[in-house]
Amino acid sequence: MYDVIIIGSGPAGYTAAIYASRAFLKTLLIAGPEFGGQLTTTTAVDNFPGFSKGIMGPTLMEEMKQQAIRFGTEVVMDEVKTITKTSPFTVIGSKTYEGKTIIIATGAQAKTLGIPTEEEFRGKGISYCATCDGFFFKGKTIAVFGGGDTAMEEATFLTKFADKVTIIHRREEFRASKIMIEKAKSNPKISFLLNKTVKEFYGDTVLRGVKFEDGTDLPLDGAFIAIGHTPATGFLKDVIALDEEGYVKITNTMTSVDGIFAAGDCVDSRYRQAVVAAGMGSMAAIDAEKWLEEQK
Ligand code: NAP
Repeated sequence: MYDVIIIGSGPAGYTAAIYASRAFLKTLLIAGPEFGGQLTTTTAVDNFPGFSKGIMGPTLMEEMKQQAIRFGTEVVMDEVKTITKTSPFTVIGSKTYEGKTIIIATGAQAKTLGIPTEEEFRGKGISYCATCDGFFFKGKTIAVFGGGDTAMEEATFLTKFADKVTIIHRREEFRASKIMIEKAKSNPKISFLLNKTVKEFYGDTVLRGVKFEDGTDLPLDGAFIAIGHTPATGFLKDVIALDEEGYVKITNTMTSVDGIFAAGDCVDSRYRQAVVAAGMGSMAAIDAEKWLEEQK
């Protein structure tokens, strides 16, 4: 019987594990199929405090894992299928695990366009996070793909770095709010390309441009895909309350089920930053520890 079972191996999960095991709670972390989370698919991380020269995403995650293990966290790989609804909880994956509290830290995934060349240039010009990678595109020509608020916001943000930002959208109407569209339209560095469906990205060692289904093409140094995120919470829909987009509903870090906590991108559609997820992970572990004390 574990005191805390953490599901997810991103910054929220490992930080929760560090805090829980340092509080002498018997802690299990179940890492899912995307071991280490979204940061393992990035290259240099320059905005996680404590690394003045930056750190590679996979290295940062390995360091977090080793830090959690140093304090006694057990780490297993499994894909959780469901959880029972009252403490002590049974977590059911390919094996079953028993825990007095659960911390959900399963994260979210940026949606992809789903074309093969997108994968080829991921991290070599294609990014899914303007806050994380905008800095690398100083003085460059870039495009943001999408027609929602995220696309408008990221395009506006990216004009701080890039000389020219093109918002590329697959149809003429936007999903974004009027005010965000107006803000983007009034920015002299931003232009729009509408009714464009991506056929493929091209380049050599780095991205050089994009070809569209209509036969046209656009040379680019960078492409930011901003077509939404999907929280990895599908397996929880019959267990805890989720909002209409699938994000976990929480009060502080407690979910709708007493003893199940949540942290990181699976609850956060707004900030989606590793440092925020890590902070929330520590909060969830502190809340789980207090909750266990109260049960005594
Ligand atoms: P979103 O509103 O779902 O918009 C996604 C956009 O991507 C849509 O324009 C969609 O096109 C396009 N898209 C989806 N799949 C695509 C594909 N396979 N190929 C090409 N285009 C594709 O997502 P979001 O912009 O990330 O926003 C998510 C939520 O967060 C929204 O509720 C938004 O209001 C909110 N948000 C708010 C703020 C703010 O207020 N500051 C900032 C960011 C986000 P279609 O329109 O054709 O479907």
